[in-house]
Amino acid sequence: GWDLKGLLKRNWLLIATIVSVLLGIGLGVLVREYASLSHLDKQYFGFPGDILMRMLKLVILPLIISSMITGVAALDSDVSGKIGLRAVVYYLTTTIIAVILGIALVITIKPGVSQKAENIDRTEITQNVNTVDTLLDLVRNMFPENIVQACFQQEKAQENGCRPTETQYFTFESYSDGLNVLGLIVFCVAFGLVIGKMGERGRILLEFFDALNEATMRLVQIIMCYMPVGILFLIAAKIIEVEDWEIFMKLGMYMVTVLSGLAIHSTVFLPLIYFVIVRKNPYTFALGMAQALVTALMISSSSATLPVTFRCAEENLRIDKRITRFVLPVGATINMDGTALYEAVAAIFIAQLNNYDLDVGQIVTISVTATVASIGAAGVPNAGFVTMVIVLTAVGLPANDVTLIIAVDWLLDRFRTMINVLGDAYGAGIVQKLSRRELERMDGTSDVTNPFAL
Ligand code: ASP
Repeated sequence: GWDLKGLLKRNWLLIATIVSVLLGIGLGVLVREYASLSHLDKQYFGFPGDILMRMLKLVILPLIISSMITGVAALDSDVSGKIGLRAVVYYLTTTIIAVILGIALVITIKPGVSQKAENIDRTEITQNVNTVDTLLDLVRNMFPENIVQACFQQEKAQENGCRPTETQYFTFESYSDGLNVLGLIVFCVAFGLVIGKMGERGRILLEFFDALNEATMRLVQIIMCYMPVGILFLIAAKIIEVEDWEIFMKLGMYMVTVLSGLAIHSTVFLPLIYFVIVRKNPYTFALGMAQALVTALMISSSSATLPVTFRCAEENLRIDKRITRFVLPVGATINMDGTALYEAVAAIFIAQLNNYDLDVGQIVTISVTATVASIGAAGVPNAGFVTMVIVLTAVGLPANDVTLIIAVDWLLDRFRTMINVLGDAYGAGIVQKLSRRELERMDGTSDVTNPFAL
């Protein structure tokens, strides 16, 4: 029968989170209407939400390190290579699909054509960003020269004696949450591979990092109990803080384009790919990720959502830990379908505003740079907006127009982050299915839900 009590018990956290989102919106609207808060009061209001963000960010470092190292070390290098390749193929394919979808929509809907650029106030800023330098920065970050420093500060190329450019300002900003995640991932993959090859001696390290992972996940469990409170104030504070609601009317069609693109990608394309490969209900899968999706929507950061993504994928969906430990952290850093779609739409929207006719070559350039820019964007709030300057400069669009769309970025950021996280989760499900033979061979059993075995 219909077991309401059991349902409530199993999903209490999700239910509490959704209730707190609604309460937070209500509270925000009420305070906006009836109270006049000073700037300082508003900051106090955001305090409980700040604490939640800090706690989530706190566990990212031990989580990434322990999950990547054990994830890689537990597989033999042949298998991890195959899994890595499958993951990358999935990341790229879905990102490109998202970009094409975005371009198709923005060309059909034409959100920027109906509006005259003069109707929308723009602030002038000039920015000089060079695509090559941005790519070099990305690669440079993959090889941190100091692993401890990579844990708390992004390297500035300038200090390394390289050519100082505006780019460094941008990439530095996009990593300003303090972790050089890409660098850490590269290091952990290499370290994990080496440990895996060390045999008996490597086992000590492997067990150490596995225990670290378990301890961290227990911390995550505790943090998640605080989540409803944090989220309530996070959303309320945001509603109180937003100054310009009118801009939403002006940029309405642009937002509709981005949001419908995200909706189609996440409810049609990703589920379809999942269904074709895994042959299971993709929507049940998405429901299992609900807690992570709501979290992403509330905090606009794939990295900070990672602890929750792990829990949903492993506990609710029972995806093999050898897969999640590998696919999820990398996905949170480089696989951003929502961001790629957004960047393509935004760039063409700006072209439309300026009556700038794009030829086929330029549209191809936009698709390629939007893909690269989404890979380069860190999983932190507004990162995609920052790396979009790469796309604009690649086709010679005025980068100062970004000041126009930044006004609504806080909202779009939430939704694209949610799609980014969903894409990572589907990826884990798909890679698990594609790798089932290797996994079975490794543990000699067909039961892939087996607890992670060292
Ligand atoms: N906030 C997004 C994320 O963390 C990145 C972006 O700004 O598009 O996934």
